[in-house]
Amino acid sequence: MNLNNDIKKILVTNEQIEARCKELGEQIAIDYEDKKPILLSLLRGSIPFVTTLSKYISIPLEFDYMKASSYHGGTSSTGNVAISVLPASKLEGRHVIIVEDIVDTGFTLSTVVKILKSYNPASIEIASLLDKPSMRKVDDLKIKYNGFVVPAEFVVGYGLDYNELYRQLPYVGVLKEEIYNK
Ligand code: 5GP
Repeated sequence: MNLNNDIKKILVTNEQIEARCKELGEQIAIDYEDKKPILLSLLRGSIPFVTTLSKYISIPLEFDYMKASSYHGGTSSTGNVAISVLPASKLEGRHVIIVEDIVDTGFTLSTVVKILKSYNPASIEIASLLDKPSMRKVDDLKIKYNGFVVPAEFVVGYGLDYNELYRQLPYVGVLKEEIYNK
């Protein structure tokens, strides 16, 4: 079986992702010069994005991870955000860039931002590969570094999964309905 056959259409190609990561990474390098930011990736979906993005951030930086989940295997956000891994670094006084795969309702990131604020970092900004603004249910979320705006469709690839599959696809695509209606 070939996972590519389950994709109805490709929304963002690998070449587009690479080019946009270069732009965002170069901008982050300018904005954070001498600040040694912490790239705080949300597991597991943001790993391909943070890997590509960080190649283009040519200033000193550190990596850390956190795990927050709200989908629990389905195709729509539940609003119940479960945090299961907290950052290992000391965040007090540090410049934190949260790295996310996609912002949908915004519940996940607003929960994560609230938790991170309690560590008293010097600043918190958000970098997301994708944004689905038409689905937003919280209104105080600012995504400083956004890759692409996508329509309100369930997407997979470049870290995004359906039941833990499809994360390794090198592009972002829409799954055929018959896959999740099975
Ligand atoms: P939010 O809390 O903003 O509604 O959802 C954020 C999380 O929901 C993302 O980190 C991602 O795990 C998941 N998510 C939202 N939209 C999609 C989508 O279209 N496809 C996949 N695979 N996951 C999504």
